[in-house]
Amino acid sequence: MVALDGPSGTGKTTVARRLAERLGAGYLDTGAMYRVITLAVLRAGVDLADPEAVAASALDTVFTIGTSPQRPEIELAGEDVALEIRGPEVNFAVSPVSAVPAVRELLVTRQRALIEEVLTAVGGIVVEGRDIGTVVAPDAPLKVYLTASAEVRAARRSAQDNAAGRDTSHADALASVGRRDRLDSSRATSPLRPAEDAVHVDTSELTIDEVITALGELAGR
Ligand code: C5P
Repeated sequence: MVALDGPSGTGKTTVARRLAERLGAGYLDTGAMYRVITLAVLRAGVDLADPEAVAASALDTVFTIGTSPQRPEIELAGEDVALEIRGPEVNFAVSPVSAVPAVRELLVTRQRALIEEVLTAVGGIVVEGRDIGTVVAPDAPLKVYLTASAEVRAARRSAQDNAAGRDTSHADALASVGRRDRLDSSRATSPLRPAEDAVHVDTSELTIDEVITALGELAGR
């Protein structure tokens, strides 16, 4: 198992999927799980400042998440929400929702069960998120913490949004990435931080291929 953590815009998702393919492993995007809960909370019109209401809505949410790196589908009550969970409304609300302890408890339990399932079925898994090496799977044999400069992360986020048909300026991406990182790093429960034994990889100056090669070597392939 590989635990891949780090702030937004470091290339985690692309890297995690490609690494999983290279290793013949499964893949779990835990950020997508926080995003689908957030979408459900927004659709239910719940007040984000009311943690109990957010937790109740999260507990009611029925979703499925795929673990194939080729096509990791994500469905909310049977509806494909892969695009919608990457939109600006969810981007804005996901950090406050994921700061609610009961939401984290719910999802961490589900994540551990999915990891066990995939490890039994496929033998390996690459899991990406913010607290995988510290909380979800502290015994993972390989923990990687991806970083990149704020400028590079904002440029990647804005390019990604533009490719998805959303017009996000560099300045807006910089502000949005910075806000999310501040909230994710300062929350009381499982704040974003590297595990003590994580290998740090700065992706600012590296291509995706270079990152995959470096991580493949770390994973012994
Ligand atoms: O990785 P992604 O940008 O999709 O994650 C969206 C948000 O979900 C993060 O900004 C963070 O608030 C939350 N998250 C988390 N713990 C994880 C993964 C994501 O709190 N393991």
